[in-house]
Amino acid sequence: MQSLTNRSKLVVNKKMTFWERIYLPAIFGGMRITLRHFFKKNKTVNYPEVKRPFSPVYRGMHVLKRDENGAERCTACGLCAVACPAEAISMVAAERKPDQAHLYREEKYAATYEINMLRCIFCGLCEEACPKEAIFLTDRIVPASLEREEFIYGKEKLVEPVDQRIDISLRQIKSYPQ
Ligand code: SF4
Ligand code: SF4
Repeated sequence: MQSLTNRSKLVVNKKMTFWERIYLPAIFGGMRITLRHFFKKNKTVNYPEVKRPFSPVYRGMHVLKRDENGAERCTACGLCAVACPAEAISMVAAERKPDQAHLYREEKYAATYEINMLRCIFCGLCEEACPKEAIFLTDRIVPASLEREEFIYGKEKLVEPVDQRIDISLRQIKSYPQ
């Protein structure tokens, strides 16, 4: 058949030499390479027991922040969802009741807020779009799972616990250190 490119090569059934036929030089050559690598410093780590340090601006699992009084900062404006190129964010807004002022910072809040981590590409555009400094990406890794439903992260996983705040101080620096 006529070749479409000029990259085709003619196969030549060249007769093997004596040394090629006994394979020993090739075996010893392979063992020499194996031994050389055996005594070199290992470049891999035993994850998850050993973890490499992350960049301070690594983009991992999101956190929905609380303010200094412990109230949720998110006002369900939807800007993060509009900015998200993967359409991974969805939410339902609700109106704050008079006795909920300690729970939600603004009069409108997110009754539900979900991120589909299977869609998310960790670009950080939601973080950039948020006018309330309510959502940030962190250095936490989204755990693996065999169940697709477990990658829909709701407020129970995203909102930071009152007594275990997530430090995002480095991400608030707009000109990130080089
Ligand atoms: S990090 Fe990017 S892809 Fe993920 S939720 Fe935010 S905007 Fe969407
Ligand atoms: S996280 Fe920010 S941008 Fe997204 S809905 Fe809440 S306040 Fe708006």
